[in-house]
Amino acid sequence: MDEEKKEIIREDTKNFSCPGCGGNMIFNPEEQCLSCSYCENKIEIKAESNNMVEYDFDSADELEAQDWGEEKRLFKCGNCGAESIFDKDKIAQFCPFCGSSHIAENSDNIGIKPTLIVPFKIKKNDSEEKFKVWIKKRFFAPSDLKKSYKMDKVSGVYLPHWTYDSNTFSNYVVKIGTYYYVTETHWVTENGERKEVSQQVRKTRWRTEQGTYAEFFDDVLCNASSNVESGLVKSIEPFKLKELVDYKAAYLSGFVAERYSISLKDGWNKAKTEIDNRIKSGIRNQVFGDEVRIENVATAFSNITFKHILLPVWISAFDYKGKVYRFMVNGQTGELDGESPVSALKVTLFIIAIIAVIALLVLVI
Ligand SMILES: [Zn+2]
Ligand SMILES: [Zn+2]
Repeated sequence: MDEEKKEIIREDTKNFSCPGCGGNMIFNPEEQCLSCSYCENKIEIKAESNNMVEYDFDSADELEAQDWGEEKRLFKCGNCGAESIFDKDKIAQFCPFCGSSHIAENSDNIGIKPTLIVPFKIKKNDSEEKFKVWIKKRFFAPSDLKKSYKMDKVSGVYLPHWTYDSNTFSNYVVKIGTYYYVTETHWVTENGERKEVSQQVRKTRWRTEQGTYAEFFDDVLCNASSNVESGLVKSIEPFKLKELVDYKAAYLSGFVAERYSISLKDGWNKAKTEIDNRIKSGIRNQVFGDEVRIENVATAFSNITFKHILLPVWISAFDYKGKVYRFMVNGQTGELDGESPVSALKVTLFIIAIIAVIALLVLVI
């Protein structure tokens, strides 16, 4: 069978065991240290920042492969001895037999290695509390939602991200519109009398202009996981990238960490779309006119660099009347966003109320 041709890779993992009792030590967001799940033992993690390095995008081509489809990675649990499969898109996960946390060694099997990380700051309990507050405030949510939703397990995931820097130089063509007014006269008949009425009418005079625009973009962020909706991740941004520290496996203990599934190149194409939009609004700000239409922008990108980083997110979902709604909490700032059910009745009542207000205003005026 073709299936059997899959390459089997042995992945060495890091597993932090307590020097006191042998239990699994996991990262504690509150104290930023490793804590034993069974005894009171704690081990300090020294936060360092030696890895604040930008990598050259053009020389990274050979590291582009991100289709992990064919390979099968196995790891042996040092805690219980069982051998299990590393999910194809994970670099940290739990042993399915004993639940202990395992982190893939920073080997070549994981592709481009993350060099920096924002460790979790928000505890699991706090993310659950944030959710409860958020769900209460859903204005259009059905009234029985608070009582009848069923919340899934909240899991802490480090999501891979790319950040890009680039110099840009753009040549642009814009159409600039300037308003002017003309007096137009026409005849009307009022009370059987014909008379001439004149009024001011706004017109726009257009001219074409060319120019150049230059901007340096720093740390344009791009989600590198195809397992989460980029829109949902975007809505819990910003992350404070000033708080990035050197990647250490200890920060991942007790969490899941994903391996990137959006390649460095695909990520750059997404980042470029964002940069293009920011260039356009930059051009709009430097051109004066009553109206500005951007006809054409040609941008040259140079000195493109990147970093591969991990960002903390609490992910969960809740079930309401058989439908699943996802939500996310920013593991650094506590910002929450998600989908929630909408009550058709509440929306209808809201629209009726608006119509009533408008009708009232019309009557009064
Ligand atoms: Zn212990
Ligand atoms: Zn195990």
